[in-house]
Amino acid sequence: MSAHPITILGTGIAGLTLSQCLLKRGIPFHLYDRSPTPARNNYAITLYASTYRALCKELGISERVFLERPSKPTTNSPTSPSPHPPPRNPLRNTSTSQTPPEIHTPGLVIAADGVHSAARAALLPAIAPQILPYVAFNGRRELSNEVFEELYAAAFASSPIPLAIAHKIGDALLSIALVAQTANTTTLSWTYSRPAPPADPCFNPTRPVSSATQIPEASYAELAQLQALPQPFRDVFDGEKVRGERVLHWLMRALLVPSEELTKLAGKGVVLVGDAGHAEAILGGEGANGAVGDAVGLAGWIEENGVEGVERWCGERYGAWEEGVGRSRDRITAMHGEAEGKAVL
Ligand SMILES: Cc1cc2nc3c(=O)[nH]c(=O)nc-3n(C[C@H](O)[C@H](O)[C@H](O)COP(=O)(O)OP(=O)(O)OC[C@H]3O[C@@H](n4cnc5c(N)ncnc54)[C@H](O)[C@@H]3O)c2cc1C
Repeated sequence: MSAHPITILGTGIAGLTLSQCLLKRGIPFHLYDRSPTPARNNYAITLYASTYRALCKELGISERVFLERPSKPTTNSPTSPSPHPPPRNPLRNTSTSQTPPEIHTPGLVIAADGVHSAARAALLPAIAPQILPYVAFNGRRELSNEVFEELYAAAFASSPIPLAIAHKIGDALLSIALVAQTANTTTLSWTYSRPAPPADPCFNPTRPVSSATQIPEASYAELAQLQALPQPFRDVFDGEKVRGERVLHWLMRALLVPSEELTKLAGKGVVLVGDAGHAEAILGGEGANGAVGDAVGLAGWIEENGVEGVERWCGERYGAWEEGVGRSRDRITAMHGEAEGKAVL
């Protein structure tokens, strides 16, 4: 194995998984993040069994420990999603508990700095995520467990989707996910989404990243007009309750950096992984699964081959990126119907 040192930018799921895999193999690296603390807006992610099994192996922990969430069943199917969004903590704790590597001059830079990657923007300024034409608003609701039992529990119990329920009105999708439950309270995440026709007043694809909490008035008006919803959707999408909450205007970002650009960059010693290289829309996407796959695969490749010629890894992995991005676009269309509007850069 080559002794070239490695620099990883970003401690998201890709960067942390990669760092753990390299530590396990005794390969030195530096790990940087722009933020000194974990992300403030933590959210649950669904990892497929094939992904979390690979992760557990790298972390050296059992599936039971990884999936451990209060009083819920687990799945053993190799392809079905984990019914419990695994927390990031096992990964973060395991990674940060290791001895930091020695200082080296960077040889290979691995940009795992997310969909807004500064490394990608600096080196490939013409390439940016597309915004798919979908309106999507997301909020959180905390309820007492009594209210949950009274209004929600039966719908969740009979839902075919693990820990989530959904209701369609035309091409609009109303979904509710169970995020957490304590002895007294239940936290839900709700999302209202639909295709955005051209000039839709509820869709602002050019909003700055920092303006996700600015909700167009037209969106509140649209939610208030939802008529005769069945419970528990009536309770969650109640216009007055929604106005009192922190609501996020989600944008559906999709990205696939062209293969030839990746290869050129890798030839210069910079590899993009995770959302920095290929991003899938929040709704219908499986970006975290792809990010873990990149990290585990790249670490194994480096162990076998060193860092020279890493562009070959990019070429080998690219098919999975294309498939993932294509699949996620098909899924968001199937969830809502075809969008009339166009993707925006
Ligand atoms: C609400 C929501 C729900 C999702 N649900 C799912 C799901 O259920 N299943 C799924 O598979 N995927 C899901 N995803 C997508 C998934 O979260 C991403 O695909 C995944 O987090 C990408 O991991 P990453 O490590 O590439 O990037 P990120 O997780 O974005 O991490 C990037 C890291 O880089 C750091 N960084 C940024 N800029 C710099 C810089 N200049 N220098 C150094 N560090 C920097 C950031 O601080 C961050 O720590 C969801 C996404 C969202 C937003």
